[in-house]
Amino acid sequence: PLVRVPLMQRLAAMEERRWHAEPTFRSNAEGETAPITMPQDLTHEVGTRRDTLVEEVETAITLAQQIQPGWDSLGGEKRALLLEAAADLFEEHTDEFLALCQREAGKTLPDAVLELREAVDFLRFYAVEARRLFTHRFDLPGPTGEDNYISLHGRGVFATISPWNFPLAIFIGPAAAALAAGNTVVAKPAEQTPLLAALAVKLCHEAGIPEEVFQILPGAGEVGEAITSDPRIAGVAFTGSTDTARIINRTLAARDAPIATFIAETGGQNAMIVDSSALPEQVTRDVIAGAFQSAGQRCSALRVLYVQDDVADELLTMIRGAFETLNIGDPVNLNIDVGPVIDPDAKAALERHVARRKKNGRTMWRRKLPSGTSQGCFVAPTIIEMNSIHDLKRENFGPVLHFIRYKAADLGKVVDDINSTGYGLTCGLHSRIDGTRRFVESRIRVGNFYVNRNQIGAVVESQPFGGEGLSGTGPKAGGPHYVKAFATERAVCIDT
Ligand code: NAD
Repeated sequence: PLVRVPLMQRLAAMEERRWHAEPTFRSNAEGETAPITMPQDLTHEVGTRRDTLVEEVETAITLAQQIQPGWDSLGGEKRALLLEAAADLFEEHTDEFLALCQREAGKTLPDAVLELREAVDFLRFYAVEARRLFTHRFDLPGPTGEDNYISLHGRGVFATISPWNFPLAIFIGPAAAALAAGNTVVAKPAEQTPLLAALAVKLCHEAGIPEEVFQILPGAGEVGEAITSDPRIAGVAFTGSTDTARIINRTLAARDAPIATFIAETGGQNAMIVDSSALPEQVTRDVIAGAFQSAGQRCSALRVLYVQDDVADELLTMIRGAFETLNIGDPVNLNIDVGPVIDPDAKAALERHVARRKKNGRTMWRRKLPSGTSQGCFVAPTIIEMNSIHDLKRENFGPVLHFIRYKAADLGKVVDDINSTGYGLTCGLHSRIDGTRRFVESRIRVGNFYVNRNQIGAVVESQPFGGEGLSGTGPKAGGPHYVKAFATERAVCIDT
């Protein structure tokens, strides 16, 4: 008989499981193996990571380059079928992905479910794109007696370099887009979260994508540096901090090689503007979700809340009320809203930021951390009052929200201030006034503008997501233009 075990029991049963990440093609040389521990306690070992050696990077790129023309000529339909087969296998391994997301990345169960859903949606959507773009030719106007058309091809070997905060979805999304377009991929996951990535790559191989076509190269920044400095890399799809994007840009430019395509999705200094026409319950819900879901470790997360001064006290009282009810703790438990941040360095950086703001003496609300959290990387959720968004020099990647009171007459200055941070990822607006919406929409320079809702994208694969300025180069991830950016257009003109 079929025995149905509840999800939480199935996930708990994986407590003793251990995972491992290593390069797809390992040499016999000894490489360093590092333990991966859970961010929530820093002692429980989830698995191990064997870093990629420089000579293994060389081999990986050689193999990827040799097989690329074959992968490209396989065509859009066959590539789409392979990506869909991978998506099916991801879904079959739901339990394993969820358990690993909770343990390796410290995600709550709802966040882990979202992560897996996004990963699967990316695979399926890019399969659709592979069919749309690579199974037929695009006719061009031309002289009489000529057959003129465009065919699309992969650019070559693409490197994908990803962050820890979406260790599965943002690892697989850009890689799937590059593969859909006929490139082969060498993928470097973040050093904090290689286990989810290794499981994803293993399932892609089981689905039939050849090992040389999609390889994983675990390791820290040095491995990323070795990959991006190789002249055979035709393009890099990077997601991570603005500082690292600058370094990669310089590395690519310094190569004695053809100019590489560089797609960067980076950080943000995301604001939300709330005026006196906004609905208080809705604002409260969206501020709490935007600032504290995923412990504030989303590139899109709300960092700076602008509240119109005549409703500020009422709204901030409601927001504080909801803030005080957030459950903080081990994300393996079902009732937890805010889990740990990723590692001790992230925690230390956030604590330094809060300590500096404390000295400035403005209003600050801080939750007390519950007992049992002192071993892990927990940061007490915090709300801080500020005078100006310019007081923030960097992206504070965690559960810390800042607020600023503004006067209705200063709305234009608020928008200018947000723009002048140089970042341009997400911005929220809560207002029932159409003219205000139109005004902010026309002036704010961000990639994603959210009105009367939270700042968390709902449909990540088919809606473009990404920023401008310090937040990224574009094309934005997802949507109808992304996969094409991984391809090169060949205009063919035939005298018939
Ligand atoms: P990070 O920049 O520290 O690291 C990202 C990746 O780059 C990692 O794999 C890392 O090992 C690698 N790396 C580091 N140095 C390198 C080098 N010299 N050469 C090549 N690769 C190198 O970022 P993180 O802390 O992992 O991620 C958090 C950041 O990512 C935040 O700034 C967040 O806003 C951003 N992010 C942006 C988006 C987006 O869509 N815009 C999405 C998620 C995260």
